[in-house]
Amino acid sequence: MVITKEAVLEALRTVQDPELFKDIVTLNMVKDINISDGRVAVGVELTTPACPMKDKIRGDVNAALARVPGVTAVQVNFTAQVRGSGPSAGASGPASAGKPNALPLVKNTIAVGAGKGGVGKSTIALNLAVGLAIQGAKVGLMDADVYGPSIPTMAGLEGQSPTVSGDRMVPLLVGPAGHGIKVMSIGFLVPKEKALIWRGPMVHGVVKQFLEQVEWGELDYLIIDLPPGTGDVSLTLSQQIPLTGAVIVATPQEVALMDARRAVRMFQQLGVEILGVVENMSYFVCEHGQEYDIFGRGGAQHMAQTMGLPFLGEVPIDMTIRQNGDTGNLIGNYQPGASANAAMTGVTELLAGQISIRNMTRPAAKKLSLQISD
Ligand code: ADP
Repeated sequence: MVITKEAVLEALRTVQDPELFKDIVTLNMVKDINISDGRVAVGVELTTPACPMKDKIRGDVNAALARVPGVTAVQVNFTAQVRGSGPSAGASGPASAGKPNALPLVKNTIAVGAGKGGVGKSTIALNLAVGLAIQGAKVGLMDADVYGPSIPTMAGLEGQSPTVSGDRMVPLLVGPAGHGIKVMSIGFLVPKEKALIWRGPMVHGVVKQFLEQVEWGELDYLIIDLPPGTGDVSLTLSQQIPLTGAVIVATPQEVALMDARRAVRMFQQLGVEILGVVENMSYFVCEHGQEYDIFGRGGAQHMAQTMGLPFLGEVPIDMTIRQNGDTGNLIGNYQPGASANAAMTGVTELLAGQISIRNMTRPAAKKLSLQISD
């Protein structure tokens, strides 16, 4: 029995992208079809290498093609082409509207914020960058936490400084072979112990410099670690670049959530979309496997639900997360068997999914709701 490409395409039209609610043919995700006797190989291009729906799509393609008469074997080959959220794609940050984008080669810029310090914002920012890089994306990490830059320590880059090429700084490169993450931090430029007392205009200047005078090159994702709270860095960022959106990190206890809500509202006021909430230090698993909800597991998830925001997942309190951060073991949480691996991978994939959804479903720039002068 001869299998035709048309019959295969017809069958693939029944496979929906579970997040975009359209079939993968209409979404132009089917890139090639090879038929050899009863064997069919289908190339599917995902919108991110960290797609959380990979397995589901593979299963659905297999099931759909199994119904085509004559098909004896199916192979699904994934590739990924990250889509961007440039100004024309409707990136957030009305204050940046109409201005030239300082990062035209960066497809997605994601600010990671928190209502208060010590909730694990930098840890999550770093692990999001690592998780995306491991899956094959081109990633940068900008440590904009000017008051307490911890990325140099956590990334194992303490004591190093970026080189300068012409009038631009070249970010340091760390990470899995072939998947290096470009890292820039104020911590590379000032002595570690020096208290960083910044006034608003100075903060503005540093952030502007990190955007305009750092050789970021082409990136799929630039993760930006913000200082805790609501303040100058977020304002400057939203004025300077079309942010794809923000991730809010919160611990589940009520006092932390109050501040997290405030941070959410600040981003919303700036016109920056919230891509999701991460509940860090959600629970603790003791050596006997018993779980303890130290800070009241579920609090941040509930906050996300009540505010209508995507929830990206829970990350437990885990001694190895702290150790990996302190010792600069960059990929420690993603090593096979690492206790935090599943949680970190889950959060990374859900964020990548949210970014794809956002880029595929926001065709036009949002109308300005707020104007902020320089
Ligand atoms: P923030 O950026 O919000 O100030 P950090 O990411 O610097 O917070 O984290 C503060 C401390 O808590 C660090 O020592 C870090 O290693 C630790 N930490 C963060 N998240 C976890 C976690 N889930 N389990 C254990 N330790 C954590």
